[in-house]
Amino acid sequence: MKPLVCLLLLALAVPALAQRKVTDDEVRRVHQGAIVIDTHSDTTSRTVDGWNIGERSETGHMDIPRMKEGGLGAEFFAAYVGASYAKSGRAAHRALEMIDTIRFDIVGRHPETFELALTAADIERVHKSGKIAALIGVEGGHAIENDLRILRGFYALGARYLTLTHSNTNDWADSSGDLDDPKVPHHNGLTDFGRQVIAEMNRLGMMVDIAHVSDKTFWDALAASRAPIFSSHSSCRALSDIPRNMTDEMISAVAKKGGVVQLNFGSDFLSQKVADASPLRSPAAMRKLQELEEKYRDQPQQLAEERKRFFRENYGKRPRAALDDLIANVDHIVKIAGVDYVGLGSDFDGVSSLPVGLDDVSKLPNITRALLERGYSAADIRKILGGNLLRVMREVERVSREAK
Ligand SMILES: [Zn+2]
Repeated sequence: MKPLVCLLLLALAVPALAQRKVTDDEVRRVHQGAIVIDTHSDTTSRTVDGWNIGERSETGHMDIPRMKEGGLGAEFFAAYVGASYAKSGRAAHRALEMIDTIRFDIVGRHPETFELALTAADIERVHKSGKIAALIGVEGGHAIENDLRILRGFYALGARYLTLTHSNTNDWADSSGDLDDPKVPHHNGLTDFGRQVIAEMNRLGMMVDIAHVSDKTFWDALAASRAPIFSSHSSCRALSDIPRNMTDEMISAVAKKGGVVQLNFGSDFLSQKVADASPLRSPAAMRKLQELEEKYRDQPQQLAEERKRFFRENYGKRPRAALDDLIANVDHIVKIAGVDYVGLGSDFDGVSSLPVGLDDVSKLPNITRALLERGYSAADIRKILGGNLLRVMREVERVSREAK
């Protein structure tokens, strides 16, 4: 064959691999033209212990200088309540501490950078003013201590989503994290009270977050909610088969109801290869983690430190995912559900390993670049970076208004 014919055939054979050439200018223009919204940051676990988010840090994934470099428009900070607080009966207490670190240490101490946002319109207004919108999501349904009054209290303080469970099953919803533990009483999804929680969230205008729940709880929550539901930080089980990720059926159902899947950036959420090398797949590692959990049952801070040390010492050199693995998760949702149903839920400072090329929040423009290279239009990229989440939030607000 003549060389020219060879080249032509080659070009025809690999159009999917062809990447657009993209300039820095184009990346900047498209990224700045979007409201970049991230729906899950655990940086609150640092600020609650007195760490200052205002100063650039050599460790962790997020601080004000790096948020600005990353062009972040809005962050949902997690008022994360560990399972150990349920056991010690201080879950609502802990949630209040975590909400306070968002209101007091993050927004209150840095009013030149942040403003608390309570609605989709707030996010747009704060973004226009040049500040970063700060929002509150409560992570772990045990935080409400089985009391709708406490749920309403969290809403009044500004919480705009509740993750129905963390990795622990609570009194009204099963988690994906302990389904195989015979010592844990399970409910086969949501209980009647769990359905009441969702009805009250719909009435208030609080987004139902199904990250962390069991598959049955997911389907129950989907059926119970009158508003769209979402995952604040999960990825695709088709690409990494872990219980925290969502099956294609779940993703399609979320999309059908107008919700969104905000992709978790954790390496093991994005890549099967990385997940297979994870300590969470090793029975010996799981036993060790359970031992730590028992030993430090009443010392949640110490437990967190010991867990971190365990991961660092035993799993410090795990393989990392690539930025392309995140983009493959975007592509997958676009393929099975459409471009209106995917967004970003980093889990910054909550995961131990991020993809190469996405080491911290300052690297967010690399996502925009990769999407442009893949041929996504500027309009579609704006949806993925934040527009889809704004749509869901607006719809949740509309359902709430109609209920009143
Ligand atoms: Zn989480």
